[in-house]
Amino acid sequence: MDTIFHKIIRREIPAEIVYEDEHLVAFRDIGPQAPVHVLFVPKQTIPTLDAAKPEHAELIGRLALAAAEYARSEGFAEAGYRVVMNCNGHGGQTVYQLHLHLLAGAQLGHFGA
Ligand code: 5GP
Repeated sequence: MDTIFHKIIRREIPAEIVYEDEHLVAFRDIGPQAPVHVLFVPKQTIPTLDAAKPEHAELIGRLALAAAEYARSEGFAEAGYRVVMNCNGHGGQTVYQLHLHLLAGAQLGHFGA
C-alpha cells in the first residue's frame, strides 16, 4: 500500500515538514482548513484507524503527543486547537495512510453532519 504520504516520507515529493523523528513525520496540509493545519503521519504503514491493532497503540499515542508538543512549541496550546482522524468514506478519509490532523490558529466551529 503506497500513498502520497509514503512518497512525502521518502522525500519523493515535496512537503513543508515541520517535525520528524524515527516514528513519524509532520507536515503542512496542502489545503489548509485553518490558519495552522499540520498532518502527523506514522512511518509505519497503517491504512486507517480501523486497521490499527493493539500493537499500534504506542505509535498512535506518539502522533497525539507530537501534535501536543508542536502546539506548545508554536505557542498556541493555551489558545487551543483540534486534532482529528478521519476514517473511511463517511469519515471523509481521502488518503489511506493513518494521519492525525492538527487544526489551530482561529476559533473553530462545532462540526457534525
Ligand atoms: P483525509 O481527508 O484523508 O483525512 O486527509 C488528507 C489530507 O491530506 C487532506 O487534508 C489534504 O488536503 C491533504 N493532502 C492531500 N494530498 C497532499 C499532498 O500532496 N501534500 C500535502 N501536504 N497534503 C496533502
